[in-house]
Amino acid sequence: MKKFLKYFFIFLFIFCPKMKKENSEEYYKILRERMVKEQIERRGIKDQRVLKAMREVKRHLFVPEAYRDESYNDYPLPIGEGQTISQPFIVALMTSLLEPKESDKVLEIGTGSGYQAAVLSLLVKEVYTIEIIEKLAKDAEKRLKELGYHNVKVKWGDGFEGWEEYAPFDKIIITCALPYIPKPLKEQLKEGGKICAPIERDGFQVLSVFTKKNNELIEKVCDYVRFVPMRGRIEIEEKEDK
Ligand code: SAH
Repeated sequence: MKKFLKYFFIFLFIFCPKMKKENSEEYYKILRERMVKEQIERRGIKDQRVLKAMREVKRHLFVPEAYRDESYNDYPLPIGEGQTISQPFIVALMTSLLEPKESDKVLEIGTGSGYQAAVLSLLVKEVYTIEIIEKLAKDAEKRLKELGYHNVKVKWGDGFEGWEEYAPFDKIIITCALPYIPKPLKEQLKEGGKICAPIERDGFQVLSVFTKKNNELIEKVCDYVRFVPMRGRIEIEEKEDK
């Protein structure tokens, strides 16, 4: 009996963590499926490629461990350094507004956790993403690499300047709120390309899609949103404007 108990506990010790891990992956898959159906499809996102990508990317691996079980809920979550990962619906909405094509080269400003970049990477050829907070940039770079998102390149820097080395881009997505589109970003966008960004206006933020036509950005306002503000050079430029 004693021997049996001994082997029983050894068995539990070896296999339980593994079983728990496999079970939780199944559990998160169910949560992901529910998230897509109830928060995204139900609110009118129809692009099947976007829905597929949202079903695939393991959002729970992009949030701090303490928030894993909440990661598929209908709200943003803290990712450290006072920043947040956007609500799943907003990620899906911004992704579908970009109308991603397999041949696209996309620039993202505001890497954060790397989640938005991971979703995009399944839909386009290459993703270039810039993050101003060093720790977030380094963590996201490591995470994306470990999870196998090899068509994403991360840079620590100020997104205001864009990423001249890899320009021009077919699409640009900005995931921090800003008062206007900085000139370098407009210049690094291809003619006919799109920028999706939360724009600060009259004390609110609107989610806008800009299309570059004859070197001008034509704006279409889509929705009201709430994002963390852009930091860095834009704050100085803004002050200089006033
Ligand atoms: N897309 C992210 C969430 C973005 S939160 C995700 O999927 O997790 C907004 C991010 O923009 C924050 O991490 C913030 O540090 C970053 N940010 C703010 N100003 C920036 C700037 N000038 N250049 C690059 N990143 C910036």
